[in-house]
Amino acid sequence: MGPDLAGRRCPAQSTGKCVLCPTCAVVSGFGGAGAFSDGKLNLTERVGGELADYLDGGQVRELISYVDSVYLELGAPDRVYGTDDKAIAELKRKAYRQGFLLIPFRIRHMGSDGGYRVLQNFRRLLEELGVEFRFGTPVERVEVEDGRVRGVSLAGGEFLPSRYVVVAPGRVGANWLVSEARRLGMRVESGRVDIGVRVEVLAEVMREFTDILYEPKLVYYTKTFDDKVRVFCVNPGGFVVTESYWGIVTVNGAAREDSKTDNTNFALLVSVKFTEPYKDSISYALDIAKLANNIADNQPIIQRLGDLLRGRRSTPARISRSVVEPTLGGAVPGDLSFVYPYRYLMDILETLQALNNVMPGIYSDHTLLYGVEIKLHTAKLDLKRNLESKTIQGLYAGGDAAGVSRGLIQASASGVVIGRDVARRLAG
Ligand SMILES: Cc1cc2nc3c(=O)[nH]c(=O)nc-3n(C[C@H](O)[C@H](O)[C@H](O)COP(=O)(O)OP(=O)(O)OC[C@H]3O[C@@H](n4cnc5c(N)ncnc54)[C@H](O)[C@@H]3O)c2cc1C
Repeated sequence: MGPDLAGRRCPAQSTGKCVLCPTCAVVSGFGGAGAFSDGKLNLTERVGGELADYLDGGQVRELISYVDSVYLELGAPDRVYGTDDKAIAELKRKAYRQGFLLIPFRIRHMGSDGGYRVLQNFRRLLEELGVEFRFGTPVERVEVEDGRVRGVSLAGGEFLPSRYVVVAPGRVGANWLVSEARRLGMRVESGRVDIGVRVEVLAEVMREFTDILYEPKLVYYTKTFDDKVRVFCVNPGGFVVTESYWGIVTVNGAAREDSKTDNTNFALLVSVKFTEPYKDSISYALDIAKLANNIADNQPIIQRLGDLLRGRRSTPARISRSVVEPTLGGAVPGDLSFVYPYRYLMDILETLQALNNVMPGIYSDHTLLYGVEIKLHTAKLDLKRNLESKTIQGLYAGGDAAGVSRGLIQASASGVVIGRDVARRLAG
């Protein structure tokens, strides 16, 4: 699904405005959601996925180190953040005093420019190895007979036979994978959904943490609801971007390695897991994002924190008075309190207020909030240790859509687990 790497163009990257392309170039095509990602390689099993649920910690660490070496060979930069233990211990203490858990880990940052270069090299390598690519050709059905996979049927009706099939359609294909898995009688565990805002501040406000860790992952439990809120996907010197899922525009963030803005952005995400009888957490999150789109003419909403706290909408004039200059041009100034349920709004405000004691300046009137950001990781398929379906022989699932990963490194590592297993079986 989606075009080849060179053909991937997002109109919003020049205009700032999402035009809702039928296939979103930010998340579809060669390289998937990784092609325009921030290219942060999280070198730990503790974040970015659930591979440790399938393999033991040592095996996951070995895989991560192998995958990292492949990224390096393909052109990822040498520098690794998060290695200064003494400085990290001090940051941990500082965070913990205010009720935040800081999860430090090593990160290699490629940037969206570096990540793209790595993918160009990867593509060239695959071509040399004789891999054939099909673009703009979504898979419609996984074909199964007598508990064994037979191949896949493409949207145009063509059938591609195969003894082994690997499904890894990413977040954009998560809904499709859930419906295919249910049609095929596979057990799908309803996972959690994260809903939140993208926060943008002056880079100086977070520099103490970002210079040492690049991405400070912080966890907080809110006072009123005792909900878990995470500081996620921090982009120092970065910019806010849009992405679209099934015609709904949401926000995300990225940064280049070679040129920086004056701002840092990050997601503040509230994690909620629904229990019986409600199962459709993807739809719940999308409905909230859709509400923001309806109010803002199919664009994300931007609001100054000061306006939100005073119960008034942001206007273009108010945004222009903000000392934080927005890096996403197309967002519509509005009022996020018309969009988020009370619980989410309280969680977000309480966390920002507490975070201000760790990073003074975060709870400023000028802080910009963009909504809605969602992280979909609902479908957790019932898989064996080799990431093969427990009920359908030869059918493997990996990456974000299968609930195995939530980031580049563990998505890549899941591919290696599957690749090695298929190679072993093909070798007899
Ligand atoms: C803006 C942005 C920034 C990010 N920044 C980071 C970061 O800094 N660090 C990090 O670790 N992670 C980051 N991520 C997340 C990361 O990109 C994903 O975790 C990772 O790409 C998941 O890999 P995947 O292979 O599971 O799926 P994807 O990369 O999403 O690839 C799935 C592919 O399958 C295709 N597909 C879907 N359905 C079908 C179908 N029916 N038929 C055929 N093809 C189909 C899609 O078009 C896509 O090309 C970011 C994501 C975004 C959007």
